[in-house]
Amino acid sequence: MAEVNRKIWRDGEFVAWQEATVHVFAQSLQRGSLAFDYMSVHQNAKGPAVFKLEAHVRRLINTCRILGLPLSYTESDLVDACAETVRRNPGAVSLKICALIASVEVELVPHDRTPSVFIAAYDSKTDIVAQHGGGGSFSPLLSLKVEREVGNRRPDILPPQAKVSANYTAPMFAKWKARDEGFDDIILLNEGGEVAEAPTSNIFIVDREGAIVTPPEDKVLLGITRESVLELADALGVEARVEDMRVEDLYSAAEVFLTATSVGVWPVIRIDDRRIGNGETGVITARLKAKLDAIARGDDTDFEHWLYYV
Ligand code: PMP
Repeated sequence: MAEVNRKIWRDGEFVAWQEATVHVFAQSLQRGSLAFDYMSVHQNAKGPAVFKLEAHVRRLINTCRILGLPLSYTESDLVDACAETVRRNPGAVSLKICALIASVEVELVPHDRTPSVFIAAYDSKTDIVAQHGGGGSFSPLLSLKVEREVGNRRPDILPPQAKVSANYTAPMFAKWKARDEGFDDIILLNEGGEVAEAPTSNIFIVDREGAIVTPPEDKVLLGITRESVLELADALGVEARVEDMRVEDLYSAAEVFLTATSVGVWPVIRIDDRRIGNGETGVITARLKAKLDAIARGDDTDFEHWLYYV
């Protein structure tokens, strides 16, 4: 196993990948209080670029604000630190920022409340999968299960807009079970039975009139890809609506796709025991995907401002 030769930003200093560790009793590990955000890095002809870097940093700051986690960095400190981390780690395709309480604690409420910030730029294939395994279950066309036992994140417990580790615990176990049943991922519903999102992506349908529809913002994590796709629909002349939808709307949709930083636009071809569309990537899904991929590659001058060249 080759040693991972990357540098991780930890509170203003770069440390070796192997040194970026916490104690088993670290408060965030024991209590699920780690706030994070995940970004994509594109190795383009003009150099490495982070997709919508500032928006991701603002979302991390918002997560910390929702939780009451007192970050000691400004937006511009964190944007600069992310850019420097990408510069220091050639060939990286992923960028992760975490704010966590690393102190060893006895009580539920930590005595030392200031979070430590870690920023890593890496390639999950070479730096994680090649070292530790995993990562082998990616399907280009998705098969989803509507999750009927575990509900989506509830605003009165932990708002879905907070990207905090505790918000992933219940969906993770539900997805684990669905994986064993042969599905790629699950769709989470709210208390009222409306469609919310998947554990780590937003959901869209294309209705019979060719409009894209996604659930409202109070129900979901405000995905950066979701917001980008809504804007791209407008640019492509595709009608876009943000409104509640029910499971029947999924079943009867012409196309369904998920959106997330890690995968962009991701076609869905089966939900429960029903085939969606003709079982292949739908026409509108394909157009949105092609547009988003071209922007990420730096091939679309209209949307070049979405890329932050480091
Ligand atoms: N919903 C949840 C709960 C997520 O964790 C993610 C991944 N960050 C998304 C949606 C998609 O967000 P984005 O497009 O910003 O990656």
